[in-house]
Amino acid sequence: MKLHEYQVQHILKTYGVPVPDGDVATSVDEVRHIAERLGGRVVLKAQVLTGGRGRAGGIRLTNDVAEAERLAGTILGMRIQGYPVSKILVDEALEIEREVYLGMMLDRHLGQPVIVASAEGNVEISRVEREMPERVRHIPVDPLLGLRTYQVRQLADDIGLEPAQRRAFVQVAMGIYRAFAENEALLLEVNPLVICSDGRMVSLDARMIIDDNALLRRRDLAELRDETQETAQEQLARRYAINYVSLNGEVACLANGAGLAMLTMDLLRARGIHPACFIDLGGGAGAERVRVALQLAMSDHPRLILLNVFGGATRCDAIAEGLLATCDELHVPIVARFDGWNAQRARDLIAGHCSADKIYLAASSEEAVERAATC
Ligand code: GDP
Ligand code: MN
Repeated sequence: MKLHEYQVQHILKTYGVPVPDGDVATSVDEVRHIAERLGGRVVLKAQVLTGGRGRAGGIRLTNDVAEAERLAGTILGMRIQGYPVSKILVDEALEIEREVYLGMMLDRHLGQPVIVASAEGNVEISRVEREMPERVRHIPVDPLLGLRTYQVRQLADDIGLEPAQRRAFVQVAMGIYRAFAENEALLLEVNPLVICSDGRMVSLDARMIIDDNALLRRRDLAELRDETQETAQEQLARRYAINYVSLNGEVACLANGAGLAMLTMDLLRARGIHPACFIDLGGGAGAERVRVALQLAMSDHPRLILLNVFGGATRCDAIAEGLLATCDELHVPIVARFDGWNAQRARDLIAGHCSADKIYLAASSEEAVERAATC
């Protein structure tokens, strides 16, 4: 789950990381009040869960309250990459001397967190890594020992900070590390971390992704979710515990279990077929969840639906019932493969209610994909 900048800055502040003075607003009036309190020289920042805010006109610097009000009117209600702007962060404008990058993330190859720093700030870090890998430093962090001060000092040298800035940098890095670890984040990046002309080191912009698996035990974090930043499809998928990713291809790919879903996608791609979506029904899916999953699949306008089920914790006949209950609304051919628990019962149910033109029953994943390619 992604958090808004203002939410991350709030968390960082509680971990001792300096952030700009400011507050979040949902109306022009609130923007005016905050801008007045901050003395008029402020930055208005659209709060949307996507990048490219600056280019879209979602970040504006101003010197006076009246202009802040006027700009707020244009920013509120804007859409940035399809995401509606309903909140603006109003921050004091800072005199920036230098911008760097500092982040914590999980390195899936190392299987542990890494701290990443770059002498370039206000950048897309993955692009810098591709184009100027020598400008980015990674240091693995042992989760049992935590981030060590000597590691942070090393990073400070690597990105060319002055010795006088080390102490502030250590405080910021330790704060970021603790905020990352204690809130079960997958990513926490400060981009840019700025050094101001008065010498302060401040997190100017921050991004954080919380591990969805942590949200069950962390209601406080779960409550930070902003549903206005999700599509109707994403909301539906989450309510029904369906793992859904909309893609741009032609065949909707549904399976139970992420592994089987990925295998099915690979088989499709090997035949030159682009999936219209990725749907993992999850373990123990019942008829209702299948009905919703098929509805999601149809929202991607596929020319065919491919349903690949291996019944382990899931009963194949329950899935078949969900399929039969929806199949009149699905105006595309369906290819289904059932194996495992109650597979024969599922096939009998479908054969008894439906023609093979409407739902083709394949005996294997390979045959199902073959049929999808030629049908
Ligand atoms: P992003 O483009 O969505 O990542 O938004 P950021 O908050 O990172 O801002 C992008 C850039 O705008 C920063 O890297 C700065 O160069 C500039 N900027 C943002 N806030 C301020 C500020 O208070 N003062 C000055 N001078 N520049 C700012
Ligand atoms: Mn940024």
